[in-house]
Amino acid sequence: MAKISVIGTGYVGLVTGTCFADIGHQVICLDINVHRIEQLIKGIMPIYEPGLKQIVEENVQAERLSFTTSYADALKEAEFAFIAVGTPSSEDGEADMQYVKQAVDSIVANLDHTIIIVNKSTVPVGTGDWVAEIIKDQNGLDAPGFSIVSNPEFLREGSAVNDFMQPDRVVLGSTDLDAANEVAELYEPLRSPIMITDLRTAEMIKYASNAFLATRISFINEMANICESLGADVREVARGMGMDKRIGPSFLDAGLGWGGSCFPKDVKALTHMADTRGAHPQLLQAVMDINQNQRSRTVQKLEKALGDLKGRRIGILGLSFKPNTDDTRDAPALDIIHMLLEKGAKVQAFDPQAMQASKDEIPALDLRQNPYEVAEGADALLLATEWNEFKSLNFVEIKVNMRGNVIFDGRNLWDGQALHNLGFTYFGIGVPTP
Ligand code: NAD
Repeated sequence: MAKISVIGTGYVGLVTGTCFADIGHQVICLDINVHRIEQLIKGIMPIYEPGLKQIVEENVQAERLSFTTSYADALKEAEFAFIAVGTPSSEDGEADMQYVKQAVDSIVANLDHTIIIVNKSTVPVGTGDWVAEIIKDQNGLDAPGFSIVSNPEFLREGSAVNDFMQPDRVVLGSTDLDAANEVAELYEPLRSPIMITDLRTAEMIKYASNAFLATRISFINEMANICESLGADVREVARGMGMDKRIGPSFLDAGLGWGGSCFPKDVKALTHMADTRGAHPQLLQAVMDINQNQRSRTVQKLEKALGDLKGRRIGILGLSFKPNTDDTRDAPALDIIHMLLEKGAKVQAFDPQAMQASKDEIPALDLRQNPYEVAEGADALLLATEWNEFKSLNFVEIKVNMRGNVIFDGRNLWDGQALHNLGFTYFGIGVPTP
């Protein structure tokens, strides 16, 4: 079994480290966030991810998984160092590489033996070569002392453990085939297809995959807006399209669009890479514009339904960028709330997991304890995130609690006709208004 160090203990690092431990490897997870590591040592999860807490506990107990803030401890006997630190957007859309750079510098400063550095963070194409240069330039280390492998991660928050354990594919890129094969061995117990390619191609596969998925969502949202003007139903259109094997049904749900910590920054970063190399990423630009438009269009529709939003009370169900996560990074709900507040509306909201993060971003947010409290006194109710627990609400009670009767179903979750029959004015995305 291999000795693995994971640098960065967020959504990707903690899942990666825990799952590697679960398949038998000896793993130590490191973070510079002292509070995060202290919590993990006490058994408190710093993030909400279904199923993760239990596997962390089991593997800590089995002494295959531990946590540290010390690079020296983390790297002492490590054969592999997985980098899983954040790569957020900078002002101009370029990926901010400061955390990767810090991580690499710290690895170099504490490295006294041969190691394979595996990059799991989503990083601009060419980063693997750049990291190799940094390591060669510093500490006078000889090139054979380390190898660089790119291993982009495709897990989704909300189903991260399953995605890691049953990946559609594992992509590895390196100029050192032996190193790539050694990393491939770590994944062998998962019995998934493993693709080995060069460094830059592996890095690009991640961006191209995320850009394609974002494109599918923006595409169906554009179709939804066309359906609205033509009186067609985008849900049926998507179903009919999805039966075509060349198209497939995934990522064809019209709604408020994509958000989160990955699609927005990765599409921006890819656009930036293309722009700065003289390519013309027209499709990517349109994909981002359509997505942003989906949010402002929602506010315009509410304005049309309610008139001036000043003083209007809007209830929001769901704040995380998608269900089953507490992640609110670039969540459509929060963007829409900012716009509503700017227009003078009062906003009250509930989310099963993302209340604290939302309050941190929008202190003026009036948080409620459940959907029925969100409905109290509301002129309109907007469903922003399709958590399972919002699927079968008691709309009779909601109707009694509300001041108005407008329901804006931003994820096409509910039966519009049934809500219409209860006396609501129902709007979905790309579906006929009953
Ligand atoms: P995150 O923000 O949840 O976690 C990053 C962690 O890295 C934080 O805990 C931070 O304290 C730590 N960190 C920062 N600098 C450090 C350093 N120098 N040394 C040690 N730790 C450091 O980020 P995330 O969502 O896990 O994403 C990590 C990377 O994986 C990003 O590049 C992201 O694009 C990519 N990715 C994310 C997902 C996802 O669903 N979140 C999926 C695939 C790929």
